[in-house]
Amino acid sequence: MKRFEEKVVIITGGGSGLGRAAALEVAKEGAKLVLVDLNNDALEESKAVILAADPNAVVELVQANVADEEGVKKYVQFTIDQFGKIDGFFNNAGIEGKQNLTEDFGIDEFNRVVSVNLNGVFFGMKYVLKEMKRQGFGSIVNTASVGGIRGVGNQSGYAASKHGVVGLTRNSAIEYGQFGVSVKAIAPGAIMTPMVEASLKQIGGDNWEEAGKEFVSVNPMKRFGKPEEVGHLVAFLLSNQADFINAVVIPIDGGQSYKY
Ligand code: NAD
Repeated sequence: MKRFEEKVVIITGGGSGLGRAAALEVAKEGAKLVLVDLNNDALEESKAVILAADPNAVVELVQANVADEEGVKKYVQFTIDQFGKIDGFFNNAGIEGKQNLTEDFGIDEFNRVVSVNLNGVFFGMKYVLKEMKRQGFGSIVNTASVGGIRGVGNQSGYAASKHGVVGLTRNSAIEYGQFGVSVKAIAPGAIMTPMVEASLKQIGGDNWEEAGKEFVSVNPMKRFGKPEEVGHLVAFLLSNQADFINAVVIPIDGGQSYKY
């Protein structure tokens, strides 16, 4: 069974990591995709990977900054003009920011992280929910983080923004359930993507692989998650199989969050 035949899915941060992995999953099952990212080369690379897996896949690319409301309007309008509807929205683009103690966490860095991770998710929901309400169906998956449900440390901007994503998810889910629209969030632990590699380099420098081993040594499953594991979860949550799942935050972290 192909769960995404005739379905239209928007994915932000589609040029890398979790966005690309989810794109591959839903494309395999027939989704028509609109991938959004700041980085155009990364978008082209994602498209090439998806077309290599299925030459008949439909993949449109929109270069946009999710922190910019006009950019968000642009990718939503593009999708409606192109396909006339939005079945699924993986509201996922995000950045980690520089790690620092709270007292050293500069306001510029704080605002930068919040503007992408929180404002970006808010703008995305604002414009996509309007369309989904009009249609009477749709599923949104917002990317929070373990850092959005637990304290991790050294990540003031990230923690504030990801806890905010959880709040936005619950708030909009309550508002839009009556229109046939569900809103959920995922809270990934450490999944090996370019973002996590960069994070380990902040902690361990040249010894980042050692830092990585130490990091996962406290995970009950003793390993990093794989992007495709998150892709599977997101595909399920965006599909009609998950229509009655609403207002929840689902950790995908090997059990890490229960150790804090
Ligand atoms: P990644 O860096 O591999 O991919 C993020 C993508 O988002 C990149 O292609 C980047 O260009 C794009 N992007 C960044 N800022 C943008 C902006 N302003 N507008 C449009 N696109 C932008 O990272 P990832 O690990 O795939 O992370 C994806 C999401 O998952 C993020 O929200 C991140 O916080 C979250 N997350 C990741 C992990 C993990 O372990 N990888 C854990 C928890 C949460």
